[in-house]
Amino acid sequence: MTAPEKIPGKMQAMLFKGRSVLDFETIEVPAPEAGQVLIKVEACAVCRTDLHVIDGDLKKPKTPWVVPGHEIVGRIVALGADVSEHKIGERVGVPWLASTCGTCAFCRRQEENLCDEPQFTGYTKDGGFAQYTVADKRFAFTLPEKIDPIEFSPMLCAGLIGWRCLRFARPALDKGEGRLGIYGFGAAGHIVAQVAIQMGYKIYAFVRKGDQQAIDFALSLGATYAGASDEVSPQTLDAAIIFATTGELVPAALKSLRKGGELVLGGIHMSDIPALPYDLLWGERTIQSVANLTRLDGEEFIAYLAKNKVTTSTTIRPLAEANQAIALLRGGKISGAVVLRP
Ligand SMILES: [Zn+2]
Ligand SMILES: [Zn+2]
Repeated sequence: MTAPEKIPGKMQAMLFKGRSVLDFETIEVPAPEAGQVLIKVEACAVCRTDLHVIDGDLKKPKTPWVVPGHEIVGRIVALGADVSEHKIGERVGVPWLASTCGTCAFCRRQEENLCDEPQFTGYTKDGGFAQYTVADKRFAFTLPEKIDPIEFSPMLCAGLIGWRCLRFARPALDKGEGRLGIYGFGAAGHIVAQVAIQMGYKIYAFVRKGDQQAIDFALSLGATYAGASDEVSPQTLDAAIIFATTGELVPAALKSLRKGGELVLGGIHMSDIPALPYDLLWGERTIQSVANLTRLDGEEFIAYLAKNKVTTSTTIRPLAEANQAIALLRGGKISGAVVLRP
């Protein structure tokens, strides 16, 4: 038997204190409470939602500071009381949804993603831009031992949200020709495109005008078509997913959607959707938003990834360079995801 790893008293972490720049500080390593596990972070990807927290688009972060980051891969190094589901040394992933109440009407009917009293990782509780973090045992997914923590971390949000979006898009894709539009080809787009292609669907990628790098990236992953987001699709789409945060993309995507088609909005925040002629929506087109995730989504997606090869394109930065990593994501100058390594 190997001795348990020594856990230091202090750790390095990035703190959001309401300013647009995160503070790199030394703080106490959190102690796991009952029902929690302490995780030594191996990788944490930076999500657009982290930008929404830092920019104040999401209004109720934990105060006076919070550690952002909710695409966490790490190993359990200590267990709180009442934890028999996990063991020390186990590799786990922690997503955006940190915990749910379990008793509200939504939780009772298996819609825990819509819980009235949820906690969110890296927003209402501390997340993974740190060397250690604690997580609710129920929302720490056991991961396969063989995964690469850096490559896997974007799966915990970008991948999962894409997976849930695809779930809503699939009925319309299956009824039609299987043509799926993806608006915004970043971390989520590049993962879901691979999954959708494996399922037999055709990808039509729409990116920021003039972003040739994103067009080339989408085509390299097997997209049937890639073009600017203000262009109408060369073929009508059965479904489309918008990951970009621009409300103008809603009427733009509807213009390419067939009658009875499904438009899924995958972002947690979007700028106002402009007024649009009813004609664009008429014909039984549906607009569906996607909020958070359920544990079932996580279990299904992780099981899918264990059987199917989905790769992520990552740019790695040390934890201390979180602000630069955030700037990279904000500038849209990278293909795929930015990942912090503590
Ligand atoms: Zn609830
Ligand atoms: Zn996220």
